[in-house]
Amino acid sequence: MTAPTNVAIIGAGLSGLALALSLHKQSIPCTVYEARPASLDIGGAIMLSPNALRILDAVGIYDRIRVHGFEFQSLYFRSAEDEERDSYEFGNRDKYGYDGLRIFRYVLIDALVEAIKERGIPIQYGKKFTRVVSETDIAVEWEFDDGTSGRAACLVGADGIHSRVRKYLYPDLEPRFTNAMGVTAAVPTSQIIAPEGYKLPVTIMNPTHGAFVIAQQLVDGSESLIGRQKQAPDLDREGWNKLMNDKQWCVDFLRDGAEDYPPIVKSAVSNIPLNKINLWPFYVVPKLDRWASDHSRVVILGDAAHAIPPTAGQGVNQAFEDVYTYALILSQCRQEDLERGLKLWQKGRQERVDRVLALNKQIDARRMPKEQDAGRSELENEEFDLEWLYSPDFDELVRSWLG
Ligand SMILES: Cc1cc2nc3c(=O)[nH]c(=O)nc-3n(C[C@H](O)[C@H](O)[C@H](O)COP(=O)(O)OP(=O)(O)OC[C@H]3O[C@@H](n4cnc5c(N)ncnc54)[C@H](O)[C@@H]3O)c2cc1C
Repeated sequence: MTAPTNVAIIGAGLSGLALALSLHKQSIPCTVYEARPASLDIGGAIMLSPNALRILDAVGIYDRIRVHGFEFQSLYFRSAEDEERDSYEFGNRDKYGYDGLRIFRYVLIDALVEAIKERGIPIQYGKKFTRVVSETDIAVEWEFDDGTSGRAACLVGADGIHSRVRKYLYPDLEPRFTNAMGVTAAVPTSQIIAPEGYKLPVTIMNPTHGAFVIAQQLVDGSESLIGRQKQAPDLDREGWNKLMNDKQWCVDFLRDGAEDYPPIVKSAVSNIPLNKINLWPFYVVPKLDRWASDHSRVVILGDAAHAIPPTAGQGVNQAFEDVYTYALILSQCRQEDLERGLKLWQKGRQERVDRVLALNKQIDARRMPKEQDAGRSELENEEFDLEWLYSPDFDELVRSWLG
């Protein structure tokens, strides 16, 4: 077994940090390079499902974060008339080994960075990757925007949806706007007035005003995320930044049409602190033919390779699957087998991403408001099959990919 001698990771977001720990677990040295002075924390909390929690457990992070997160099992969906329409399992300790975990992004980032430092893995901040200079069968060289350059056996683009590393593989590709955006805020759970037995986290669908989400966070559930998703026209970066910084616009967006939702929404938007508001335009990356370069020395993963719509809440959960399995592939492939190994890795990973996209469709179809007499289609009636998503043994999966 001759694993590459060192890996350069571009981006210290959730993918890049988790990749560093996954490589370390396989005894593969790496260095993380991040453009900003610190890892990007776009704010707010994220939901982690058992497939990702199993990986975070394997790299020694799960116990550290679990004590800071809110555990739950299902997400509920209600109609504009406040009838329970559907539920979707996001975790279940008895069935999949882990409950779902809602955790602040910065808590997860801090735990990953702390573990990386304990293991002596270098992270260099303020290093913005600009371009690959050369690539051979054994090494890759690249440049940073400060004029310095680097060389390693492999270079991994974990640099997010607007990836610069991806430009090496796809010079002209731009992420596609999905014509939808979301605004979120955090409010005290105590201000939310819900009827007895009302199940949270909930998404309430309204045909005119879009989906409204209420989800508890913090370990005791004392704070709740409130959010509204709606169709929106595309803006340039400056336009989105302007909206993000206009907190009053965001509050008005959250409150718009509140009276047309069930009463719980009115209480949820009654007091919105301005300091925990986020705006999120939904972009996706189209399906890519290849995630690795011709010489197999440059790879993209996480949002850089497959940013997917948020319906099934699998964005970062799928990114963790990429990084853990990529580290296994590197550790199990000889140098001369790397090309084949990476092809099998991408094929195996893409199959799972495709199944997530199909799941997104199924969830959307079940949630959409229907004409009164329109029955449910076959797809909508199908039970959710989530065992494949939440319970894989990733080490076994990679062995099976490699045959
Ligand atoms: C509001 C919101 C809520 C979300 N909630 C969930 C959720 O509940 N569950 C879920 O699964 N997913 C969720 N997602 C999706 C999830 O956040 C992404 O899938 C995840 O952040 C992808 O991680 P990443 O590390 O690949 O990219 P990023 O998080 O974008 O990190 C990329 C990193 O690379 C750095 N970088 C960029 N360019 C360069 C460069 N040229 N040189 C060096 N460094 C560079 C950036 O500064 C950043 O630190 C959510 C997303 C948003 C916006």
